[in-house]
Amino acid sequence: MQYIDTRGNCEPVSAAKAICLGIAPGGGLFVPEYFPQYMPDAKDLAAKSYQKLAEEILGLYLSDYDSAEISCLVKAAYYSGKFDPGIAPCVSVGERELLELWHGPTAAFKDMALQLMPYLLTGAMQKTAQIEGGGQKEVIILVATSGDTGKAALEGFKDVSGVKIIVFYPLDGVSRVQELQMLTTDGNNTFVVGVHGNFDDCQTAVKEVFSNKELKERLEQKNMVFSSANSINLGRLLPQVIYYYYGYGQILAKGRIRAGEEIDVVVPTGNFGNILAAYYAREMGLPIARLICASNENNILTDVIKNGVYDCRRPFYKTNSPSMDILISSNFERFLFEACGRDAEAVNSAFSSLRENGYFNTPEAALKYWSEFMLGDYAGEEECSQTIANVFAKDSYLLDPHTAVAVAVADRNAQNGTRRQMIASTANPYKFPAAVLSALGVPSVGMEPTALTDLLAQKTALAVHPALAGVEKKEIRHRRQVDREQIGQAVGEILGI
Ligand SMILES: *Cc1c(COP(=O)(O)O)cnc(C)c1O
Repeated sequence: MQYIDTRGNCEPVSAAKAICLGIAPGGGLFVPEYFPQYMPDAKDLAAKSYQKLAEEILGLYLSDYDSAEISCLVKAAYYSGKFDPGIAPCVSVGERELLELWHGPTAAFKDMALQLMPYLLTGAMQKTAQIEGGGQKEVIILVATSGDTGKAALEGFKDVSGVKIIVFYPLDGVSRVQELQMLTTDGNNTFVVGVHGNFDDCQTAVKEVFSNKELKERLEQKNMVFSSANSINLGRLLPQVIYYYYGYGQILAKGRIRAGEEIDVVVPTGNFGNILAAYYAREMGLPIARLICASNENNILTDVIKNGVYDCRRPFYKTNSPSMDILISSNFERFLFEACGRDAEAVNSAFSSLRENGYFNTPEAALKYWSEFMLGDYAGEEECSQTIANVFAKDSYLLDPHTAVAVAVADRNAQNGTRRQMIASTANPYKFPAAVLSALGVPSVGMEPTALTDLLAQKTALAVHPALAGVEKKEIRHRRQVDREQIGQAVGEILGI
């Protein structure tokens, strides 16, 4: 299997090369040259373990990794004990099926991919070094985070040999729980730096470091190379396909659908990575009728899916579902590429219009293509809170604000319950205790993380996720803080170059 560039600037590359590069030279994204078909029969699928599914699905895509290697990577990434009580349990809540993707080590859905990706990357570095010569380089992962990605990447890459990871976060832009989760990370190759500024400052400065020629030369002298762990990397996308099969298998095993029965999949969406993986599963043969893309008030995706206009000239809202507060949804490019019949020219012209004018119009045929199966809808802040309260009252199930957005959208588009819905649940409610308490009508203004957690536990009797319990009592291991202009210098100091 080779990987092709959505903008047509780059020759097809192997999976290893695509994972090392992250983004194609020229700014495009790598996509598989075709969608392999995969659909075990119902009994078989319902009985397969997560690991088994992972081996089989990844095996179809990673043709330059041998099967023993894939099996080894999968075993290192996914085992019960690391994911507790299961890797991606599917829970029935009323008529809905919620696929809980937050049982990993940091209680973030990002763990699903970031527990595997470091192994894919180190494997990819070995392979490309063998092919291209020059010996194996040490990989320096740089991450700018607005919250969840930082901790999930730190946990994924910590103590992985041949890698160092440096995470930059805005000192006034993440929740206290998220900050403590990062600052208490152990491991001998992890570095966390607080930046005086907001998330955009961090992201821009990190991008500058990536393109800083002088720093790159110093890095090369030490046989090091920069890489990134963000969600446009193929190494983060492919692992996400697995859980849609696993979820479908569980719904089959519960007898809530018949063999071959189509379901709808509903995904709370930001960068479009998670729902794109569901689209890949659908293309591979998983019986999905509709993909429902749920947004919060930052509903740019709702609009483009409905009318084909992707228009960034709009206000940006800070909501209670911050991981979905996004206007540039990077992975949408991969979907657009497919919808345009893999026409790189069409993708290029859309993105040059976006750069120059702040919007693009989707070609008519592409809009028609996705209108057959893709639905976009959104829920505002009030509706999100209402949904948390209603589902808790009626179904005794506590939603986080991201999942609540998806549930609100799912309920509104349920078609009288004629089709089973699988909803991606992307965060544990204890990650956002203030918003959840407020939705339940419990005042909590000014309370510290532990007090909020205790109060939520007392009100709901829901067990606290181990990754979030007692985070304030853990030792702080990272104290570096810098101004935005000093990010490059900090990287140099940390690496001793
Ligand atoms: C990252 C994230 C999302 C958005 O996922 P995308 O793949 O970027 O669309 C939704 N919910 C939570 C809790 C997240 O952390």
